[in-house]
Amino acid sequence: MGILVKPTYGCNYQCDYCYESGLPTQELLDMVMLKQAIKDAYAQDRGDLVFHGGEFLLLSKAQIRELFQLAFDLKGSINIQTNGSLLDDEIIQMMVEYKASVGLSLDGPWPLNASRGCGGIDARKTQYEQVMLNIDKLIVAGICPGVITVVHNRHMGAENIGVYKTWMIGLCERGIQGSHNLIQRPSDTSGLVPTSADTLEWYKSMADVILGNARYQWQPYRNIVDALLGLGLGVCSFSRCDIYHASAAIEIKGDGSVTSCSRSLSSGKLHLRAAEYSKVRAEILAQIPREHGGCHGCRYWKICNGLCPGTALDGDWRNRSEQCDVYYGLYAHIENRLRGLMPNIKLCIDDPIDDFAERACNRQQTTAFDAMLFSVTESPSSFRCTTPRVTPFVITTPFMGAGLPAPTNTPHGDTVVNTPHGDHTDHTDYRGGGPTRATIKP
Ligand code: SF4
Ligand code: SF4
Repeated sequence: MGILVKPTYGCNYQCDYCYESGLPTQELLDMVMLKQAIKDAYAQDRGDLVFHGGEFLLLSKAQIRELFQLAFDLKGSINIQTNGSLLDDEIIQMMVEYKASVGLSLDGPWPLNASRGCGGIDARKTQYEQVMLNIDKLIVAGICPGVITVVHNRHMGAENIGVYKTWMIGLCERGIQGSHNLIQRPSDTSGLVPTSADTLEWYKSMADVILGNARYQWQPYRNIVDALLGLGLGVCSFSRCDIYHASAAIEIKGDGSVTSCSRSLSSGKLHLRAAEYSKVRAEILAQIPREHGGCHGCRYWKICNGLCPGTALDGDWRNRSEQCDVYYGLYAHIENRLRGLMPNIKLCIDDPIDDFAERACNRQQTTAFDAMLFSVTESPSSFRCTTPRVTPFVITTPFMGAGLPAPTNTPHGDTVVNTPHGDHTDHTDYRGGGPTRATIKP
């Protein structure tokens, strides 16, 4: 759980695609109420405290220090997400003092970053150069920041993919990790939304770079590998999020009020936080066919769960995400990489049992490598056909634009689990006909 502290939605930038841009920026900042709300949220949850915005560094230095001190006293460390333009020596020193983890938002080298910033193109270029200098300063101070890139039209095409890759590898070689977040499309008016086909090619290219080097840890690629292996759920968007009670994000505004995740702004509303979590969206999506906005029958339901409700089709949280086609293709790409490397691997999606609760607590013992263990089989191998094997997955039905593959009971060539996808349920009493650890032993 993250406790996102958002004292202001104001920002010195006016990025072309900002999903918070419709919010009022003249809010009440009441430090007494804000600090009490932080203490209350932390007492309930003990999650990471993340300073966020808007642009958090628009607060005065005295206010920044006061909030850093509070978070440090509670947690022993702090987190901050910033556009990086307002960093100076004093703030960097505070970050060192309070053991800050720092996340910066950057869309790549110039001019791929030109949708970020404020003012004309020259001003934005200067701002970009300043942020890159600030990264150098952070590293010299001993803080290795993370980077979030919002993926959009400027990144598409072979030339831009090459430019971005070179830049990202340069960051990786300096120890900088990051995340690729697809531009929030339902509410976007920037004209920066790429086609799903182009976006998928982009993500597949990046997956090949990241998964090709053990030192590169960018997301969502590593999280998808873990999810396929049955190791936890990965990020919030894979975790059956309730838009009214986002389990991964309590947000606290400057007046101390508590809201659910501000990704709900895609529907034009910022919701106050509900007291209880509801799994109703997951129950809806598991039953509704794809042509009606659900996920019924999806091969990847178990690891995906319909993605972030804040990116739902038509801004309606009951639907699956409008990022579905990109993620579906990316899951398939990474699944095939894993099966190509280790044909005997058993992935989480090969077993129809709904083990969401166990994986959510990271209590699940992975069986991915059973065929490679002496304790399970007499002839362990990553590839020799000593056990039944799942053949590589091929997307045989075009799913871009015209919708995903057939919604129900789609055979997919499994030889281990002879149960078509489409039988998923949220009820933990469901047991399908998949192999157990005992039956996999020859
Ligand atoms: S609404 Fe989306 S971004 Fe927010 S916590 Fe839920 S899944 Fe994550
Ligand atoms: S890939 Fe698409 S259809 Fe499958 S679970 Fe995710 S959002 Fe639903």
